[in-house]
Amino acid sequence: MVGELMPEQSPAPILVLGTHNKKKRLEMEALLAPIGCRLLTLDDFSNALEVDETGATFAENAALKAAEQAKHLEHWVLGEDSGLVVPALQGDPGVYSARYSGPNATDASNNALLLERLQGIADRKAYYVCAMALSDPNGEILARSEGRCWGRILTEERGAGGFGYDPMFEIPEYHHTFGQLGPAVKAAISHRARASAQMVLQLGNLIRSGGWYPDVKAVS
Ligand code: IMP
Repeated sequence: MVGELMPEQSPAPILVLGTHNKKKRLEMEALLAPIGCRLLTLDDFSNALEVDETGATFAENAALKAAEQAKHLEHWVLGEDSGLVVPALQGDPGVYSARYSGPNATDASNNALLLERLQGIADRKAYYVCAMALSDPNGEILARSEGRCWGRILTEERGAGGFGYDPMFEIPEYHHTFGQLGPAVKAAISHRARASAQMVLQLGNLIRSGGWYPDVKAVS
């Protein structure tokens, strides 16, 4: 386990998760626990940047979120960008998943718009994407990962678990949505779980090869 690679370090090295999203944060904290770092999020920093998501892809946005924030905070930062892709809608909502229904979008307004756009469309296949990028405190990206999870958009919401589009996103093998399936199933098969697993492996390699150096800033 990667955490065992850092036994001498006290206190544990700090890794900042580049998100304010509390539901994402909970999922990522559980998935990245094996790293053995002290995980912080942007909510722990009063001076965190609002990084503009100007990338054309999830991977570009993840790298931007990681590098810009890392240089600013002078910490290691894990950037994460994720969203839903519906091939029958030419890839929408895609990188605009969080703000699909406009600048004041909520999960409810995004879900309502998605249902509206899919009215009369038989092909309701969709997949989630999660891209992650790890930046050192100088803004250099040292690891990247990406995970996908395929499903189908139902015609109504089912279940109240998860977040975002989860109540409408059915996993065909389970005949249930992520809104109905508990966090344990999501943690086993989600796009975020798959990207995290790859990232944990790469972090292990980075640490083993001496590429991880402690940041200099103390955090209370
Ligand atoms: P981001 O914070 O810019 O990466 O936007 C992520 C958006 O994609 C969220 O606000 C959701 O709309 C959607 N999304 C990403 N991951 C998930 C998930 O696991 N479940 C449901 N919606 C998700």
